[in-house]
Amino acid sequence: MDRKTGCMKKIPRTVITANLTLTGVLTLIAFAVIASRSNPVAAVFISIAIGCLFFIVLMEKYVRRFFRLRTPFPDDWREILQSRVSFYRRLDQKGRIRFEQDVSIFLDQQHIYGVQGRHVSEEIRLLIAASAATLGFGMPDWEWPDLRDILVFPTGFNEEYQVRDDLPIKGMVHQQGPIIFSEDELRMGYLRSSQDSNVGLHEMAHVLDMANGSADGIPVGLNWVASAPWIRIMADRIQKVRKGKCREVLRDYAGVDEAEFFAVAVEVFFQRPTHLKKADPELFSLLKDYFKIDPENPGDAA
Ligand SMILES: [Zn+2]
Repeated sequence: MDRKTGCMKKIPRTVITANLTLTGVLTLIAFAVIASRSNPVAAVFISIAIGCLFFIVLMEKYVRRFFRLRTPFPDDWREILQSRVSFYRRLDQKGRIRFEQDVSIFLDQQHIYGVQGRHVSEEIRLLIAASAATLGFGMPDWEWPDLRDILVFPTGFNEEYQVRDDLPIKGMVHQQGPIIFSEDELRMGYLRSSQDSNVGLHEMAHVLDMANGSADGIPVGLNWVASAPWIRIMADRIQKVRKGKCREVLRDYAGVDEAEFFAVAVEVFFQRPTHLKKADPELFSLLKDYFKIDPENPGDAA
């Protein structure tokens, strides 16, 4: 395993420990059952074989990942990241390799498809994966849930999922359902990296928020020590946004509720880190602590 490229980190230790424990228990049970009915020496070999097979089945996702990471990252994918994703450009060489691995793994494990059978281009698939890789870059043990479908609409849509250019919804995450992106808006978010709006980062931030069971602006993994200042800042800034006092930092949509505040703040944090750091160092610092990364100068971050 190449430690320079960080492949090992992609199998969380907790997963290995849990699966080894399960395998050990099954192997012992298999040995006890087989030994009671046949030759104990044969029982040793057969139970070990059963244990190995069971372990491979449990680790199937990671076995596939292992081989996926040995497939060279396509040059045309790299060109798209280079030309469209400012966060990728800010990484050093080692960081870019790890980002590419995260993109590959995401694309391998997630189900991305177009509404009503529409084709989803490689560029759009990469921009979705890049959004996830950006948010997860400083948290290498974080695994994106892979039970959600990712649905791509060609333009904006409404609550009835009618699709039209002038309809207002550009992305959506359901608590239990799919993640939805407007293709136009996703592309625009990566064309205007100097602006704060990026639907890819926004919707993936909602996924982080909902991963602990509720859309309350408190993302998964935020420990209780960090929660208190986060809740205080969030409440304060939402009030300021609603009074129009935060416009140079956060767009008005951040004032809708806590979930939208977190998603909008995440967009600004990754899209315009220098601006956010200068305009609201306290908010910047809390996001930096949570994402374990300085998006101004991410380097490798691991
Ligand atoms: Zn939102």
